[in-house]
Amino acid sequence: MALLSLRNVSVSYDKVEAVRGVSLDVDAGQIVSVIGPNGAGKTTMMLATMGLLPLAGEVTFEGSSLTGLDVEERVERGICLVPEKRELFADMSVADNLILGSYSLKDRSGVDAALQQVYQRFPRLQERRRQKAGTLSGGERQMLALGRALMAKPKLLILDEPSLGLAPLIVREIFRTISSLRELGVSVLLVEQNARAALETADYGYVLETGEIVQQGKADTLIHDPKLIAAYLGGG
Ligand code: ATP
Repeated sequence: MALLSLRNVSVSYDKVEAVRGVSLDVDAGQIVSVIGPNGAGKTTMMLATMGLLPLAGEVTFEGSSLTGLDVEERVERGICLVPEKRELFADMSVADNLILGSYSLKDRSGVDAALQQVYQRFPRLQERRRQKAGTLSGGERQMLALGRALMAKPKLLILDEPSLGLAPLIVREIFRTISSLRELGVSVLLVEQNARAALETADYGYVLETGEIVQQGKADTLIHDPKLIAAYLGGG
């Protein structure tokens, strides 16, 4: 059984149908990438999955429907979205930003344990724990956004363009980190314009164009597909 399933999902803004009849699965322990050009509907699909936009069709998580559940209830089920803009609190310390991510954990010792786990994964965040989030570099801010999401102990992380605006070296580090989330048993739905890096990191991929899934397959098959290489993957 899939961890997350979208079945025939459509999302509209006024008269524009931005996502049309999308069906997609994320299995437990998998990293699944959705690639596609600017404006294809990737962000819209993520927001609707999280309950931030109304949708037609059905989303199920661990076999039960999410229809009617608000964002908080979806977070409680174990889904966490890291939005494109990262939405950190610039005037708060790194540590406080992380602790805010754990608001759904019940006890203080759980919060401390989660914090230690994040520091272990991101030693840079530990070094900078007292610094204001606004003083971090772009890459460190993305690490902090990932770390904060992990504080909620999610089963599924939805990442919207985690590499956006970052230097190539940092992008590689971010994708290595995403790959390592498998060790924590966290599944990932990854939305990216950086199609090559996304498919290199993923187990399975979907191609979204003008609101529709036009292709899907194992990531290592897609990455060798001549049509995709021409459209999205560049020469290399
Ligand atoms: P990008 O990578 O640029 O974010 P995307 O694949 O995530 O692209 P979306 O942002 O989901 O694409 O946009 C899909 C379509 O919906 C686009 O045509 C966009 O213009 C439209 N759209 C997005 N947000 C809104 C909105 N708030 N109101 C109306 N139309 C919107």
